[in-house]
Amino acid sequence: MSCSLWSVLVLLASLLGLATTSPAAAEAQPFRVLALYHGTWDAAHISFVREANAWFPRAGAENGFTYTATTDWNVLADGRAEGYDVVVFLDDAPASPGQRAGFERYMRGGGAWLGFHVAAFTTQSRDWSWYHDEFLGSGDFRSNTWGPTTARLRVEDHAHPSTAHLPAGFTSSVSEWYSWSNDLRDNPDIDILASVDPSSFPLGTDPDQTWYDGYYPLVWTNSRYRMLYANFGHNAMNYATGTTLSSTFASATQNRWLLDGLKWLGGVTARPPADASPAEPLSRSARHTAPATPPPIGVDG
Ligand SMILES: [Zn+2]
Repeated sequence: MSCSLWSVLVLLASLLGLATTSPAAAEAQPFRVLALYHGTWDAAHISFVREANAWFPRAGAENGFTYTATTDWNVLADGRAEGYDVVVFLDDAPASPGQRAGFERYMRGGGAWLGFHVAAFTTQSRDWSWYHDEFLGSGDFRSNTWGPTTARLRVEDHAHPSTAHLPAGFTSSVSEWYSWSNDLRDNPDIDILASVDPSSFPLGTDPDQTWYDGYYPLVWTNSRYRMLYANFGHNAMNYATGTTLSSTFASATQNRWLLDGLKWLGGVTARPPADASPAEPLSRSARHTAPATPPPIGVDG
């Protein structure tokens, strides 16, 4: 084959999109996850934070994201969080007006968020109504199960990228479970992804803190934002000895949801067209004003 014919074939192949780029060029940039936590209360949540700060970096290496964890919540206030594609709240929510305003700005600007367990906890939702009533939709904490147990989860919506590969139901990791003052089913912005399957009842081991029936959403998203909330994030503990008795990452199916959810938050997988709405924030690529190298953030254990 002559050189010119070969050139023509290569040109044709590239025009048809058949040419393979080099593996390095084809490989997507890892997206950047920033986790915020306090790690001070209580032992069950601290145990989860320690697990998360070990599990996510390993998962990130295999799933195309970097993971930075810090106790400096002021990264939300001063704009340093803008350098990250996904912000995670492991065991709390921002407290100061500056942190709260910065987080709202980050989300309204097309940022992405994953929250666990205590991230939604409040008994004073009016103190930050945008976050608790609009963004999360849950309002106030109403009740919890005790002691921590697994739950059988029913997947409510398989059309979302985080649940597309999940079975109809699965057993979660052990957690304490929360219920809320607002009925999320009444909120048109909220897409409940998983709820307690009735086969879980009674849920809890203390008869006074057990759910016997009812509807309990545990995982959801708000279609106006790129966000996911998961109610798990509380390990079973022997409080007397400080020994961890369960792992939040013990359910392979739940881990699959976490990773598929993170990939969606990080802009790797697209939201299905059916979910598109005028309020849809800009996609990661469209908003991608994040600097190539995020500003330095003090990294903690
Ligand atoms: Zn808890």
